Amino acid sequence: MSEELKEKLFDKKENGWKSVNDEKRQAIFDFSKGYMDFLNQAKTEREFVKKARKLADQNGFKDIIEFDTLKPGDKVYFVNRNKSMYLAVIGTESIEKGLHIIGSHVDSPRLDLKPNPLYEDTEMAYFKTHYYGGIKKYQWTTIPLSIHGTIVKTNGEKIDICIGEDENDPIFTITDLLPHLAQDQMEKKLKNGIDGEDLNLLIGSIPYEEKGKDQVKLNILNILHQKYGITEADLTSTEIEVVPAFRARSMGFDESMVAAYGQDDKVCAYTSLAAMMELENVKNTAICILSDKEEIGSMGNTGMESHMFDFFVSEILNKLGVNKPNLLDKVFCFSKMLSSDVDAGFDPIYASVSDKINAGFLGKGISLNKYTGARGKSGASDANAEYVAWVRKVLEENDIHYQVAELGKVDVGGGGTIAYIIANKGADVIDCGVPVLSMHAPYEVTSKYDIYSAYKTYKAFWNA
Ligand code: MN
Ligand code: MN
Repeated sequence: MSEELKEKLFDKKENGWKSVNDEKRQAIFDFSKGYMDFLNQAKTEREFVKKARKLADQNGFKDIIEFDTLKPGDKVYFVNRNKSMYLAVIGTESIEKGLHIIGSHVDSPRLDLKPNPLYEDTEMAYFKTHYYGGIKKYQWTTIPLSIHGTIVKTNGEKIDICIGEDENDPIFTITDLLPHLAQDQMEKKLKNGIDGEDLNLLIGSIPYEEKGKDQVKLNILNILHQKYGITEADLTSTEIEVVPAFRARSMGFDESMVAAYGQDDKVCAYTSLAAMMELENVKNTAICILSDKEEIGSMGNTGMESHMFDFFVSEILNKLGVNKPNLLDKVFCFSKMLSSDVDAGFDPIYASVSDKINAGFLGKGISLNKYTGARGKSGASDANAEYVAWVRKVLEENDIHYQVAELGKVDVGGGGTIAYIIANKGADVIDCGVPVLSMHAPYEVTSKYDIYSAYKTYKAFWNA
């Protein structure tokens, strides 16, 4: 008797794999293969946007600049300074009824080169770095690292570099102290174990000539000059990122998971982008945001706090021929958004930081965070119950497993996404993404079931 009633009344939150047949398992694995291939070629925001643009071009999207007028069914995008991108499929419904927006970010925690990075010490050459985003510094030593980025010369010439991804490339690394001499270091607090100023990348050790000062540094500059035609001063106008040289790999005997760098938030960026490529005949205009700078507060002209996104939507209104005073505000007020960012997956090894009843679990499907924030929900964009119900309805109608969670125990943690930025414009927003283990580490873990579930969720949302 009670079993029947439980079946009827309890929120079961079942492991998604239990209801996966062979056909669906294959679809999940195939989709994840595409995701891993993409990740291996898109470790930075610039690389992600470049690939996303190419994919969009192949799928009938065009730069909005190329359009004089827009009509339902048109597929457009705008690339913002090569680092963020907005895509849209124009809906059949009046745009005054609001947009359906999915917004993720394509930047990930990493080490950036300082403006004056190169120095020599004890006949070894180094690049100095300044870490980007919230990292545990000790995790970034003694692992293979690659260098990705763009050098811009004063004549406007741009050179893209990527060293350490090809099997035949050299890699780089940051050294750590041997345990034999680390007694003092080991006594330090974990967060102080490695100093930010000590995250220096070892890049060479051969002197240019036998005699003279800074010969190893000179040799490195000579190599860079021969290869790219640059001088030391040119390094000041570069954006070079140091990221793990690991490849995205299937994980576990059952290959149920993905281990990769940068899954926060490229897992949501990729799944939403993949869903957008397949959209046809949407009712509400569908928007896909791939934003930059989320990991450091969304500031600047490629971050979500900038007005660049408003400009993109205004361009749509202009080219639809419907724009009028305050229409942009009105459109946002009637819009719905999924802030597609990763959730902290429950980790049984570190169970004490989570409320198990309100955590997101790997393999249980897309994770909705009604709010984020920290210490009394401070700074949170709290989704309205009416909107949460609407999203649940979309998910349930499409037979998509979901879980509603929060990030960590009360007063333990918290986090932020771009949700509040669009919510502040008047849209209904909820955080909705894939649970991740070891978030912000050089190697993050996700479940293939959840990755596929994200893709299904985003498609269903745009088609709702
Ligand atoms: Mn994120
Ligand atoms: Mn993050």
